Amino acid sequence: MVEPKPPRGPHQESGGAKLAGTTDHPSRARVVIIGGGVIGCSVAYHLAKLGQTDVVLLEQGELSCGTTWHAAGIVGQVRPTESMTALARYSIDLYGGLEQETGFSTGWRQCGALWVARTEERVTHLMRAAASARGFGTVAEIVSPQEAQKRFPLMNIDDLKAAVWLPEDGTANPVDLTQALARGAQSREVRIIERTRVTSINMANGRVCSVATDNDVIECETLVLAAGQWSKALGDTIGVTVPLYPSQHFYAVTETITGIDTDTPILRDPDGHVYFKPEVGGLVAGCFEPNALPWVRSADIPSPFEFRLLDENWEHFGPWMESAAQRIPALETSGIRKLYNGPESFTPDNNFLLGAFPDVDGVYVAAGFNSGGIANAGGAGLALAEWIVEGAPTRDLWSVDIARFAPYASSDKWLRTRTIETLGDHYALPFPNREPATGRGIRRSPVHHLHEKAGASFGTKLGWERVNWYAGQGKSAEVVYSFGRQNWHENVAGEHRAARQRVALFDQTSFGKLLVQGPDAEKLLQYLCANDVAVPPGDVVYTSMLNEQGCFETDVTITRTGAEEFLIVTGAAQEIRDLAYLRRNIAGEHTAVVTDVTSAYAVFGVMGPNSRRLMTRCSDADFSAQGFKFATSRLVDFAHTQIRATRMTYVGALGWELYVPTECAVGVYEFLLAQGADLGITQAGYYAIDSLRLEKGYRAWGRELNTDITLIEAGLEKFSKLDTDIPFRGREALEKQQHAELSQQLINFAVDDRDVTLWGGEMILRGDQKVGTVTSAAYGHTADSVVGIALMRQCVDGHDWSVADDLWVDVAGERARVHVR
Ligand SMILES: Cc1cc2nc3c(=O)[nH]c(=O)nc-3n(C[C@H](O)[C@H](O)[C@H](O)COP(=O)(O)OP(=O)(O)OC[C@H]3O[C@@H](n4cnc5c(N)ncnc54)[C@H](O)[C@@H]3O)c2cc1C
Repeated sequence: MVEPKPPRGPHQESGGAKLAGTTDHPSRARVVIIGGGVIGCSVAYHLAKLGQTDVVLLEQGELSCGTTWHAAGIVGQVRPTESMTALARYSIDLYGGLEQETGFSTGWRQCGALWVARTEERVTHLMRAAASARGFGTVAEIVSPQEAQKRFPLMNIDDLKAAVWLPEDGTANPVDLTQALARGAQSREVRIIERTRVTSINMANGRVCSVATDNDVIECETLVLAAGQWSKALGDTIGVTVPLYPSQHFYAVTETITGIDTDTPILRDPDGHVYFKPEVGGLVAGCFEPNALPWVRSADIPSPFEFRLLDENWEHFGPWMESAAQRIPALETSGIRKLYNGPESFTPDNNFLLGAFPDVDGVYVAAGFNSGGIANAGGAGLALAEWIVEGAPTRDLWSVDIARFAPYASSDKWLRTRTIETLGDHYALPFPNREPATGRGIRRSPVHHLHEKAGASFGTKLGWERVNWYAGQGKSAEVVYSFGRQNWHENVAGEHRAARQRVALFDQTSFGKLLVQGPDAEKLLQYLCANDVAVPPGDVVYTSMLNEQGCFETDVTITRTGAEEFLIVTGAAQEIRDLAYLRRNIAGEHTAVVTDVTSAYAVFGVMGPNSRRLMTRCSDADFSAQGFKFATSRLVDFAHTQIRATRMTYVGALGWELYVPTECAVGVYEFLLAQGADLGITQAGYYAIDSLRLEKGYRAWGRELNTDITLIEAGLEKFSKLDTDIPFRGREALEKQQHAELSQQLINFAVDDRDVTLWGGEMILRGDQKVGTVTSAAYGHTADSVVGIALMRQCVDGHDWSVADDLWVDVAGERARVHVR
């Protein structure tokens, strides 16, 4: 490790303004923030702006001394989702205006950014990214290599195929930005205390009550972990999952290069794994290499670690410097002032960690910024401050919500393994269905080995291995990724047809399963659920749970399994989130408990016209239309055991979901395969589920349904109590919306051209006007066309999109005709 550096890092253009922290240590504060990096200061600033000024920020060293001081300071706004793009755009607006507000410069320079493509696949990626960025309101222009070179004359363009120009991107000075945010917070009474280290977090009855520092104890109601790479170790002390791992992260700063000036834009060359930004007449040349070097686990970060870097490592960085010189030949002769190797936190899915911890109360996190902390600080600080003040997120934050991880993600060994891959993922080709290569096999279905035997190709969700499709016994299950049609298309067609024409067997063990029990269970769920769940035992209800705005917290099926007992089945990804939502809503007010029983049952879907015959072969129970009605569930003798059979479908076919005690799963699955052989039973995976559900227009949480869309906008009011006078959360908002013009709406669509491949995220146009975005799409093998769901943002008369003509989908710059179904 190298010696401490002065707090300006490479950013000699710093304004250098420095805030005087307080030395006055309060004994209590409503909110305590741990960490005085750019993120902690942004949270403090935004809390204060929202009127929450009883805030103390504690920093063990000086502001920005952790990771912030050595960031390159690039602020880009292209993000995969609309809500994340909006937050990054907000950062840009904020940084441009902070100096005027605080008197402290942020070093903001709107120099624009270029992304260049060396391969045809990268061209497709950039075209798709530019189209979706434009859809999200960002200026993104496809330009030729020659036009790109006009903006960055030192760039070699011999091997380039195209580029994207983003004029709104820019750079900030990370140290000055942190100071400006801190100043903005302090001027609104927030107390910023440096040289004070939090040594422990004290909890009482599952809620934070105070923090101990190396000086004293500060009582608090709310605690924010904004401690960068230290956040994981702090979280471990109170048993919460903070899935981040510090990784070595490199860039070189060159001597002055003739031709680089203040107008030189940022340049990203993802095929070469390198990026550039102008720096005091020279360049910063950095990399996102595919073979990253994780550093130490959070708990082993040496102390103190202020304004420090890690050792230079030319052996590791050398090949990337060569790649950089291929793009900017002047680097072959320019001198290198310094190679920076600074640690930065990376997360298993490359998205940052934000929000309330699901398993304790009063503790929030804003950490794990994957080399995007400067770009995201403004938006993330605003979003977290709103979450704290309002008690819930004010926008769709699911992609960064800390509740998207389960406890397995606390494993440092697992995190280290993932980090080697995730850092490089920044510049890997982001194929829409790309699955991670590392850290796999954490949660497996009891019949995983049978899937392997059948040549399954697995994907992963919340740690589960799930079958996407089957290649067939002895065949390669490797996905050949591309943005167009992939090698599994025909396999999925076969699985799809089995569900429509014979019988398909799906392993849906990864469903989250939550048992709500107690005298108040019905009362609690009747209020939380939009649909009527006060049904007789044995009935099954598809329902959403909504927030006060009538938007989706989750959508689930609920089986009443007893007078005081309900089994809630939710998507694999929502297990932890929904558990927390239920726990918090029970909190002291209801005599009920919620228990996560996910691991207790395997779930097999038996779907298709032959499913009734198959069920009858496996059990003496009555599976006739009258004997086992749709949306009912009961325990039945089955194979050589007892299971719960539930007549329900997510694929739009006659069928049952079987809830099988985990230890009986292998026997039941083998029995089903044997008994179904002459009925044409076919094992089928999640890609077939998507194709089947989209043909039927069924919505999916996280794709179509989220906290930004209401039940009415989703077209699901028939699954609600709106036609009764029974109260439920979100009802008032929905009643108002029933009589208002909708500003957005989900529609089902099909595409005329059978050769188009859509993945979601594509823009829908009416004439030349952008009117919507595809949320999900797949090839519907029964419909024999591309089918999907889109969120339409522009109104048509009478809200009836089916009458709208001249509708198109933009696929990487090409248009295909769309019909509303
Ligand atoms: C080489 C490199 C280049 C980068 N380039 C960019 C870029 O161009 N654009 C971009 O957006 N991002 C970039 N980043 C990422 C960016 O620097 C980080 O995401 C960001 O600085 C993280 O800020 P933070 O506040 O979360 O963490 P930090 O800055 O590390 O702040 C956390 C603070 O918590 C304090 N702390 C920890 N434990 C305690 C405790 N117990 N008590 C009190 N205080 C405590 C620490 O001292 C530290 O100051 C880069 C990072 C690196 C390493």
